Amino acid sequence: MQLADERSHGGTLPASAAFDLTGDLPCASCGYNLRGLSIMHECPECGVPVRATLLARVDPKATELRRITRPRLVAAGLVCWSVGGLVALLVTWVMRLQDAVAAFGGGGFGRPFDAVPLGLAALVLSGLGALALVRPHAGIPARKTWSAILAVALYVPLAYLYWLVLARLDQGTVPYFATPTTPHPEEMVRTMARLATALVLGLIILGMRPMARVLVARSAVLRRRAVDRQTLYASLASLGITMLGDLASLIEHALHGPVLDAFSDIDVFLIGLGSVLLTVAVFGVVADSIRLVPVVMHRPLGLADILTEPARSPDGERAA
Ligand SMILES: [Zn+2]
Repeated sequence: MQLADERSHGGTLPASAAFDLTGDLPCASCGYNLRGLSIMHECPECGVPVRATLLARVDPKATELRRITRPRLVAAGLVCWSVGGLVALLVTWVMRLQDAVAAFGGGGFGRPFDAVPLGLAALVLSGLGALALVRPHAGIPARKTWSAILAVALYVPLAYLYWLVLARLDQGTVPYFATPTTPHPEEMVRTMARLATALVLGLIILGMRPMARVLVARSAVLRRRAVDRQTLYASLASLGITMLGDLASLIEHALHGPVLDAFSDIDVFLIGLGSVLLTVAVFGVVADSIRLVPVVMHRPLGLADILTEPARSPDGERAA
């Protein structure tokens, strides 16, 4: 493609040397529809060369991409998957916030607002969203689809563990904010359940990632930014930090005596840090999925969509 190094000025070349835009192409600068102009021309409204718009808007890989069978379903799936996960995560913050108020405000152990049903509903939404992503179009390798299906199946243990920790084990207690004299009665079980939760969640992220990459690959801009790698890996790394916190908690339990004091805040610190980072990362995943919606809804513009070689140029005057 000689678009970039084509030096000739618009209009001065014979029309036979030019490609004409036969499809709709909004100017990259002002949005004016450049249809009917030659790629040698400039935008009549703002003067930006048509070639600049082509470079900005056209995806050279567009022709390789398969058509998404149900674009609306896939777009909705993406948003439900990420937003559902975010809401479930925010619900745990609501619980901890209520605990903090109870612990420092001197109130009882009661939580004025039981957010767990909302969190569970959000998880179901997230899992259904993931289900819509298992096979967005034909031609996807079976192992990527199976990986996504496995991730969807893992929502069942995830929802159970979520309920187990937040609704059952935390019932009538204040985890993290409790004084040493009133430890969580089922601290060990809770820590194990939390580790299992992080493990299952990590596997879900790993399982969904190949499909996320399939969708990201549909956009030239997102491909360049390697969007999925940043936010999904950031989520995994944050989960790892919370798991270190829970492991520290296990070690604390195994240790007794004076060592305990020096060690006792590391777990809460790591869990808190990992949770904050995870929340930030999941906000990033939500932002990425919203960015992917237009990519999923519309097939990217390929050169073949807007250019056809004029039939009246058989002389091969174009530069090779
Ligand atoms: Zn323009």
